[in-house]
Amino acid sequence: MIELQNLEKRYTNPQTGAEVYAVKHLNLTFPDGEITALLGPSGCGKTTTLRMINRLIEPTGGRILVGGEDTRNVRPEVLRRRMGYVIQQIGLFPHLTVAQNVATVPDLLGQAKATTQRRVLELLDLVGLEPGQFAHKHPHELSGGQQQRVGVARALAADPPVLLMDEPFGALDPLARERVQDGFLDIQRRLKKTVVMVTHDIDEALKMGDKVALMNAGELAQFGTPDDLVRRPVSDFVRQFLGEDALLRQLAGRRAGELARPAAPGQNVQNLPRVDSTLDARSALSVMLRERAEAVAVMDGEQVRGVLNWHDLGPRE
Ligand code: ADP
Ligand code: MG
Repeated sequence: MIELQNLEKRYTNPQTGAEVYAVKHLNLTFPDGEITALLGPSGCGKTTTLRMINRLIEPTGGRILVGGEDTRNVRPEVLRRRMGYVIQQIGLFPHLTVAQNVATVPDLLGQAKATTQRRVLELLDLVGLEPGQFAHKHPHELSGGQQQRVGVARALAADPPVLLMDEPFGALDPLARERVQDGFLDIQRRLKKTVVMVTHDIDEALKMGDKVALMNAGELAQFGTPDDLVRRPVSDFVRQFLGEDALLRQLAGRRAGELARPAAPGQNVQNLPRVDSTLDARSALSVMLRERAEAVAVMDGEQVRGVLNWHDLGPRE
């Protein structure tokens, strides 16, 4: 668990002497084993907040507890060993191979070569890069999406309980981004790291975040599940930032298969339009509109997994 208590970062403008807050009175808890998306417009203080967690930036006020321990009492290099760090520009070493890049931290920590070797192969597998094909390539021989996967593997190499990610998939084209996002969610289901993921991309936050912390001008605008923000915005800022189509955006990040339910008694599944369980829920809704149907049958191949009803997609309670 990472707790930000009254966290503050103030800068003094050297010309005017005026003080500006990059982060102000921030109280926020990142739950263990979950992804929290740190969302907000450009300049709202996301990166500053993230970099205060691993002490790349020192706060001017407040404190940060990691597992109950004040980070000021932990040496930065010790702290960073517990926290993988993934950034948009990836920062792979161009002259090292993929395997050597992933092994950087374990090597620094003096881990036995054979152990590291095994771990590197496991990690490449985990992020969907076939080791035989990729371990000996250099970064420039990889696509953007593949480089980003190497970045994730490297951050996981020392098996840290915490992952800090700053716009990790921001530089990828939409298709590659979707693929790397899905790959990461898959990994996270198994590893259950405590992840703080900075993004300005609403769709990414709603899709990836178990929780979303929306910031505005250095302060917390709302913290909650994607559902909370979409359906129960606490202010006009939250409503406007997410937009009128927030619900559709959220559905775009969910699979029909996740939302499918058993057919109601008497509901004739055979007559319903069919969608694949991997289809996103927004597209499934689109099929309902096109077919003028109130529900679709959600299929695993030829097998009916369940039914998706349009009224299950709307606001609850
Ligand atoms: P975000 O990541 O949300 O886009 P940042 O955390 O990078 O935003 O920046 C928050 C605010 O703090 C911005 O207004 C930025 O200009 C300001 N800021 C960041 N770093 C510095 C610095 N070293 N000196 C002065 N102002 C800074
Ligand atoms: Mg930033």
